[in-house]
Order: sequence, then structure tokens, then C-alpha cells
Amino acid sequence: MITLTKAPEPGPAPALRAGMSYRPATVAHHNGEPVHPGRYVIEGVRRWAAASPEVCPDVDGSEWLTDELLVCPTCGLDCT
Ligand SMILES: [Zn+2]
Repeated sequence: MITLTKAPEPGPAPALRAGMSYRPATVAHHNGEPVHPGRYVIEGVRRWAAASPEVCPDVDGSEWLTDELLVCPTCGLDCT
């Protein structure tokens, strides 16, 4: 059995497709749920229903935007 002595480091940010970008605003939380440091909202895909992860009503949904990029379908937060 492996015992972690500290929280795992977040992996490198997934590669984005052409036209996608990371919104530079720091994400404090996802409607109260913790967010891995370094995770941002993906822009350039579509207009997200929620203005920001902090006010997102859907913290359980997820959608693959690319082979390696998983986001919240309501606010666009990178949940990979
Ligand atoms: Zn969300």
C-alpha cells in the first residue's frame, strides 16, 4: 500500500487546439469545490453558460474537448 505524504502535484496543463486559450483569471473554487492549482477556464470553444467557475451550478458534469482536455461543460473549467 502506498501512503502519500503530501498532495500530488498537478500535472502539466494539457495541450490546447488552435483557437483555444486559457482565461488568465485565477480560479478560486468551482462552486465551493476545490480546484487544482493551475487549472483555468478554456476559451475559444464556445460561450459557457456560467460566467465563472465560482458561480457554476454544475460541478459534476464533464466533457472531453480533446483527447486529453476534460472540462466542465457549463463553465469551461479545465478539470483534466
Ligand atoms: Zn463548472
